[in-house]
Amino acid sequence: MMQLDNLYQEVILDHYKHPENKGLSTTFDAQVHHINPSCGDEITLNISLEGPVVKAISWDGVGCSISQASVSIMSGLMIGKDLSAAQLIFDNFVQLMQSKGSGKPDETILEDAVSLTGVSQYPARIKCALLGWMAFKDASVQAQKKN
Ligand code: ZN
Repeated sequence: MMQLDNLYQEVILDHYKHPENKGLSTTFDAQVHHINPSCGDEITLNISLEGPVVKAISWDGVGCSISQASVSIMSGLMIGKDLSAAQLIFDNFVQLMQSKGSGKPDETILEDAVSLTGVSQYPARIKCALLGWMAFKDASVQAQKKN
């Protein structure tokens, strides 16, 4: 079992129990399905763009609390952002996950995603945390090509 900061653990569990934007929309510009075989996590993610702005994200998934909380947090962060702002948040989070526990997260950019900082010390779990973010990146690229 991972040892994460108690407050962070609470944020993760709260997103896991009360996920944001869970439940797939019937309309979307792109839909992707990403899996993390090493843990058994699966996420389907829909995205709708309005010009350069992320108009909607909805998702469904199964898997560990880290993977499901992370996609919930990501969706809340990205909706309403334009794609360049979304890219900045994405890059920040990927960098944090690659920091091997030494990252100093910027809470003004990452908000609730800072709760996942401790995951970066556990190489086997980083893919869990990144799954929803990679799905978002993939879906946003596909949606841009379509529009
Ligand atoms: Zn997992």
